[in-house]
Amino acid sequence: MSIIKNYFKQNKVVHTFETCQWPNGDPQDKDFHFCGDKTLINKPYCKKHCDVAYVDEKDLKKDKESHKHLIAA
Ligand SMILES: [Zn+2]
Repeated sequence: MSIIKNYFKQNKVVHTFETCQWPNGDPQDKDFHFCGDKTLINKPYCKKHCDVAYVDEKDLKKDKESHKHLIAA
């Protein structure tokens, strides 16, 4: 029974991210590690790193919209 439980536990870790996958440091560096904080639901990063990761996307959309507005005007 515990073997099956462990199997599901490991499988879950493979298919979903339970800890933040944000890389800290240089991958070449031996200090390199992932953040490891608890992730937001359906996100590979914790709250802090989601803010960092998705801020560019939001800004790009905003840029496009303001650009559209300029063209229309
Ligand atoms: Zn993080």
